[in-house]
Amino acid sequence: MELDERLHGIRERINDACELAGRDPAEVMLLPVSKNHSADAVRELTYHGCRVFGESKIQEAKLKISACPGNLEWQLIGHLQSNKCRDAVRLFRMIQSVDRMSIAEEINRHAHNAAKDMPVLLEVNVAGEGAKYGFKPAELLDVLEPINDLPRLEIHGLMTLAPWVPEPEKVRPIFQQLRELKEACEQKLGAPLQHLSMGMSGDFEVAIEEGATLVRIGTALFGPRPRPTKPKPRE
Ligand SMILES: *Cc1c(COP(=O)(O)O)cnc(C)c1O
Repeated sequence: MELDERLHGIRERINDACELAGRDPAEVMLLPVSKNHSADAVRELTYHGCRVFGESKIQEAKLKISACPGNLEWQLIGHLQSNKCRDAVRLFRMIQSVDRMSIAEEINRHAHNAAKDMPVLLEVNVAGEGAKYGFKPAELLDVLEPINDLPRLEIHGLMTLAPWVPEPEKVRPIFQQLRELKEACEQKLGAPLQHLSMGMSGDFEVAIEEGATLVRIGTALFGPRPRPTKPKPRE
């Protein structure tokens, strides 16, 4: 199947999931995750209306972004090391993977130096085991205000990565929990948060039923990820 057909198929599935949940499809943003895929694949999607893309790694993103049209927007969805913060602030329009207090402070520092405000999502490790990174649900409310007080950071919502399971129904409770956490954060901040970033190729319909506003889709759109160009040692 061609890229545009897969894109069309995913948009239909998003619409169907919204209909089932009684939601407006305009509330759900599709973020194509282009990691390990080429600038050409990105360019092709731009011909079909995609303008915002997700990347996991700074090095890869840097090369790809410079090879892509300049009018695109990029969001970081992968774990960020503190020595890459300066690049991250320069390359990305939003950082979804704020997973610890120290990285929030470091992003703030570089955003300040760049005279930029940085929209961020707080990554929550709801599942506890599967995902390696993210705030624990129990600590989220404690870091919320200190992060919100960082002048250059704008908290736009929460993000989670559900563990991969063959049956997406199994991760529904994780999405429900993230939604409840978002409500608790809104209450504590006294302001609404725009985004619940949850749902990937294998589980985005369930995530939409549970309130996702942003689904991050790689494989179902681009096909299987080619091996990274630099081979990594086997784990
Ligand atoms: C790779 C990745 C995705 C996309 O995963 P697919 O299963 O290929 O859709 C989404 N979110 C994050 C954080 C990722 O690293």
